[in-house]
Amino acid sequence: MAAAQWKLVIHGGSGAMRPRPGDPAHEQSARQGLRDALEAGGAILGRGGSAVDAVEAAVRVLEDDPCFNAGRGSVLTAEARVELDAAIMDGRSRRAGAVAGVRTTRAPVTLARALMERGPHVFLSYEGADRLARDEGLEQVDNSWFVTSERRRQLDEVLESGGFDAEMKYGTVGAVALDEAGHVAAATSTGGLTAKQWGRIGDSPLIGSGTYADDRSAAVSATGSGEYFIRAVAAHQLAERMRLGGQPLQAALDAVLEDIGDLGGLGGLIAVAPTGEAAWGFTTLAMYRGMADASRRRVAIYSEEDER
Ligand code: ASP
Repeated sequence: MAAAQWKLVIHGGSGAMRPRPGDPAHEQSARQGLRDALEAGGAILGRGGSAVDAVEAAVRVLEDDPCFNAGRGSVLTAEARVELDAAIMDGRSRRAGAVAGVRTTRAPVTLARALMERGPHVFLSYEGADRLARDEGLEQVDNSWFVTSERRRQLDEVLESGGFDAEMKYGTVGAVALDEAGHVAAATSTGGLTAKQWGRIGDSPLIGSGTYADDRSAAVSATGSGEYFIRAVAAHQLAERMRLGGQPLQAALDAVLEDIGDLGGLGGLIAVAPTGEAAWGFTTLAMYRGMADASRRRVAIYSEEDER
């Protein structure tokens, strides 16, 4: 059987991210960050590596990039701390690993991967998650290492307005991939929402909501107003629209975004299927995103950059 054509799709969050006047440098760095992530994941897939390795590698690049709301550069909680959520899933076996409320582990996606490999649990939170990371020898950093001055400014702005991330300056990251062996995988990582409190956990680390992968349908990663993605069981809904409902990938993705819209939520989704189909879509003004295969690599932010 001929090898499948590999595919990699990534996102760096959805939202109303028109740069503030005088901030074009941020947009340029974000585009570079997306290209670096495609490069890291694409290199693995191009030499016959696995989809799981590729999505982990792509997400790690974005976690370390302060442009995005994951790892370093994450948004701050109401107590001005960083609490990170991440998940990874292998479509071949439907094994998964997820962590929430991580405070000292530099690469939350790698911690999720370690949990997936180690089992038997699928989802760990807060101190226990960081403890597993230490047991696994994963790099630990002080919580302040994740904090940037821009995120502190955004927290002040949100707290002053008495609001709750009303402008949706998101920036969650995710990746979905199809490898040459025909398997798919998905990973998502985030700092969540600015000024979140009470141990709030979003959709990103919830298997089936923000992250899902199944070789029988698709690999999916979400970004947006997480509460609505949880209620719509968004990523799993997309996969099952294909598997049970027979919908094509893009139609299933659009239908899920419509369903979330009906609930009042906004955001975006990326997905890839074992057939080689790849898709993205968003209902916000913009979504940082990128797509790569053996012959082409492109990144985009605004909707008008798509020719659909
Ligand atoms: N979905 C994420 C959350 O609710 C936020 C985002 O996509 O930026 O935690």
